[in-house]
Amino acid sequence: MPKHFFFDLDNTLTPSKALIEAAHVPVLKKLGERADITVVSGHGENDIRKHLTLALEGLYHILGQNGNVAQTKDGRVLWKRPLSQAQKDAARTFIEKAQKHLNYTIRDENDIVEDRGSQIAFSLIGHHENQVKKDAFDPDQAKRRKLLSDLVQEVETLKAANMEIRIAGTTNLDLIELGKNKGYNVPAFIEAMDWKKEDCIYIGDALFPGGNDETVIGILPVKAVKNYKETYLYLEHLLRS
Ligand SMILES: [Mg+2]
Repeated sequence: MPKHFFFDLDNTLTPSKALIEAAHVPVLKKLGERADITVVSGHGENDIRKHLTLALEGLYHILGQNGNVAQTKDGRVLWKRPLSQAQKDAARTFIEKAQKHLNYTIRDENDIVEDRGSQIAFSLIGHHENQVKKDAFDPDQAKRRKLLSDLVQEVETLKAANMEIRIAGTTNLDLIELGKNKGYNVPAFIEAMDWKKEDCIYIGDALFPGGNDETVIGILPVKAVKNYKETYLYLEHLLRS
């Protein structure tokens, strides 16, 4: 049994951008009695807390915005790396080009971009679009992969502005500082906590090429899950042994 568990949030611990299912709260509580839990998400810190509900408050460490904000479970902020205005401007320029290229009809134009401080989150159809629509939008990431390959030049321009872009959640692209992805921030946190990498495990639904969990591969043991239901099946199995 690993001593330190790292979990992605969307589709790994919770349905995308939604509250944890009530039946799963006791599973995490039980795990928290036996191991450390760290949640590594593109979401901001407040959304992570909200989605995991008050019932689990204080049980887990937070690596918000792909780990660019690190907060221990007792509330200590270890680091916070905000994007510069120039980086945010580059992200906006990319998103405008992407939207023109996609030419989708969007329900709420103000729901496309979320500036989380250390990350710009770009939802292709809207962060708060109907959940069923979101789940059906791009389950195999093909639409977002195609967009990134169609806009290969713009992705290079982003890199020149010290930014990188990754597929996340159901309809999202995460824009963060170049290199400051989960594969950078998770080992930095392991070091800060004085843990051993071989005592850790990372569980995520986006360990595929281009996914926002992919960068942790090779750094610590990983377990890929199709969805959050698979995560809890795995945890229940571990906790039985
Ligand atoms: Mg995910």
